[in-house]
Amino acid sequence: MHNNNKELTLSAPLSGPVLTLAKVPDPVFASGAMGDGIAIDPLNDTLHSPCAGVVVHVARTGHAVTLRADNGAELLLHLGLDTVELQGEGFSMLVKEGARVSNGQPLLRYDLDKVAQQCKSLVSLMILTNSQDFQARPITLKSVKVGDPLLHIIRRQGSGAQAEVELSGEERVGHVRVAHRGGLHARPAALIRQTAQGFKSTSQLHFDGKSATCNSLIGLMGLAIGEQDDVQVTCQGPDAEAALQALLIALSTALAEDSHAAAPPPMNRHHREAEAGVLHGACAAPGLVGGPLFRLSAISLPVDAGHHDPAQQLQALDAALSVVRSEIDHTLSQAKKHRNTDEEAIFAAHLALLEDPALLDAAQASIEQGTAATHAWSQSIEAQCEVLQQLGSPLLAERANDLRDLKQRVLRALLGEAWHYDVPAGAIVAAHELTPSDLLQLSQQGVTGLCMAEGGATSHVAILARGKGLPCLVALGAALLDQEQGQAVVLDAEGGRLELVPTNERLAEVHQAQLDHQQRRALQQSQAHTPALTRDGVHIEVAANVASSAEAADALANGADGVGLLRTEFLFVDRHTAPDEQEQSLAYQAVLDAMGDKPVIIRTIDVGGDKQLDYLPLPVEANPVLGLRGIRLAQLRPEILDQQLRALLHTRPLSRCRILLPMVTEVDELLHIRQRLDALCIELGVSERPELGVMIEVPAAALLAEQLAEHADFLSIGTNDLSQYTLAMDRDHAGLASRVDAMHPALLRLIAQTCAGAAVHDRWVGVCGALASDPLATPVLIGLGVSELSVSPVQIGEIKDRVRHLDAAQCRRISHDLLKLSSAGAVRHACHQHWPLS
Ligand code: PEP
Ligand code: MG
Repeated sequence: MHNNNKELTLSAPLSGPVLTLAKVPDPVFASGAMGDGIAIDPLNDTLHSPCAGVVVHVARTGHAVTLRADNGAELLLHLGLDTVELQGEGFSMLVKEGARVSNGQPLLRYDLDKVAQQCKSLVSLMILTNSQDFQARPITLKSVKVGDPLLHIIRRQGSGAQAEVELSGEERVGHVRVAHRGGLHARPAALIRQTAQGFKSTSQLHFDGKSATCNSLIGLMGLAIGEQDDVQVTCQGPDAEAALQALLIALSTALAEDSHAAAPPPMNRHHREAEAGVLHGACAAPGLVGGPLFRLSAISLPVDAGHHDPAQQLQALDAALSVVRSEIDHTLSQAKKHRNTDEEAIFAAHLALLEDPALLDAAQASIEQGTAATHAWSQSIEAQCEVLQQLGSPLLAERANDLRDLKQRVLRALLGEAWHYDVPAGAIVAAHELTPSDLLQLSQQGVTGLCMAEGGATSHVAILARGKGLPCLVALGAALLDQEQGQAVVLDAEGGRLELVPTNERLAEVHQAQLDHQQRRALQQSQAHTPALTRDGVHIEVAANVASSAEAADALANGADGVGLLRTEFLFVDRHTAPDEQEQSLAYQAVLDAMGDKPVIIRTIDVGGDKQLDYLPLPVEANPVLGLRGIRLAQLRPEILDQQLRALLHTRPLSRCRILLPMVTEVDELLHIRQRLDALCIELGVSERPELGVMIEVPAAALLAEQLAEHADFLSIGTNDLSQYTLAMDRDHAGLASRVDAMHPALLRLIAQTCAGAAVHDRWVGVCGALASDPLATPVLIGLGVSELSVSPVQIGEIKDRVRHLDAAQCRRISHDLLKLSSAGAVRHACHQHWPLS
């Protein structure tokens, strides 16, 4: 969401059809006398905050609330028309005056039926009450869901508020050396922009005689700042000093670039000797594959005759932009769910580019001259691509590819073309240049390799291709596009060669190599259903992390020895009412049934913190991650946990149902739940007790493992949160991603202490955080005493194979020495030496 001191994107506070103010059946609102704004005819029963801000006024009758957004815009949210006359009947206000609210936070709940029957209309308004300083521009006039982008708020040029911000703070100036690898390309620039948006002050970077506002990604990239370049930062406004300090840190802290580091150096095709029947390029992702060549072509636009209706074209562009925005949002949430940080960072940058004022303003200006939205968008992107390409930095030139990705996507949305290719599985795709979103789609269709006429080995497509294990060659030259559709080729990515006329022997040899690779994988899969024993006979259970019964079935098919973690949040999120006891019980039973005779560890609900539920308003917290999340919810809403425990006690057989408690910090929390469980068993006439385990994801729990193990049946280490809380680094922080590494010796010491504490009471310890899925960590975890690893379902075969090649006694000896090392990097290096990955 684009939120800075000048512009702000407001998300829909309600779900339902959107109306312009003119259509509102109320003369005062319809005339705009109250201010600019928009209306929604609501279908849901909760009003949510459209942005982050402060509640400045709450109507005594509970039907309206006014917020001040962080950029100074004041918004009146008014539920229904003439609802003041209901005198508060049917409304319940969830926030107080003065409270700080986050974007999407529930503000007000109302009885939909009652209010609808008693008032003139349910049409609800979002009005910009200081319209003299700001302008509101609708993003969509279709139906929206809560949280969809709805309105752009733009500060009017030269407005009083603008002057006030600029005058109300001194200018702060600082200098810093840029640490980002390759300089300020899209992802670091997105981080800078995001950092600046956290403050009210306006911020600029100055380099080499040029300046750019931190609001514009393209502007920032356009400065062509390289790694180790010295830049000047200026911030002006009420919080200039804080903004400056934050920007200096963001500029001088390198982003995680693991995948870049793994990239083989690009080769220059011009320096290669010509070889008949071979195109030379640079390796962007390794691998050797053969298959039919399949050419993809880009969209080309017909000539534009001009004289289009600007209002209509602007609306079409807005609608297309919001379609693409929600597609990218979906990709982002998938990437987040699967913890794919590369993918997440790339598409977050795309989202930021899509809102870039440099692009939008140019497109809008040309639409206003009568150009079609398609051509205006296309020209605006091409103009920016040219700027990037002329900067003389290959890395920035490659970012033009990200812009072209957005060009294609928005054009497809404008032209109403389905964004879908039909490529035969096994094909090697050839294109002028592929974009990140092309790549995601192609990889799902089972293509074997990628080659491009243009492109670079450090492009985002290259990062994604490496992540997906898809061999990829770039910079093969225009000749690539003259090749025949369907001709058999060999792509030797490491050799930088695309062999256009391979002999039958060569094709056979390559196929053999491909087969060998697949066979290894198949061998691992075929042995995935047998228990994993180390060479010296120690049994390690390899279970799966799942979030539904479908995923559980998939895990069983992949050889899982059980479910090591069922995250039950899946049942509670994205809905408007809580699942009742029966629905929960059926869902848990379905997971048990999907797992045959294997055990299933079901974690009680871990919401709170940053995961809010519509129907479960929790108090606003200054530090949600340190607040009422996990088991602490029992303190606030005991009935929710009781209901979940009851649902769990209805499942059969209880011997296979193990209950796991998240975020435990002290023994009393465990004892309390044990007592509740006993009481509920008596109430339900259940004689058997399910096993009860504790997650170790807070340092206090690891340090207290011995005491916890006395009362728990097992312990399961959540390395994701344990890293976050031990290292004091947000697990989702883009700039810290490479440092939130659970192989840090401090974490390993806590894991060792957990295992030692559990051993005193003869309890077993599992790991269900992401570290369990990292094959480099397998010997260390076994060595420290872990006996169960809960991994992502696709990795079961691989991790079991890894276990079978290890000697537990040797793992124990070496792992305890690793505790003395001084960094995660040193631990990883030592692991590569002792237990190389095959
Ligand atoms: C963890 O914290 O490691 C864990 C497994 O729980 P989650 O990722 O659901 O917070
Ligand atoms: Mg956790």
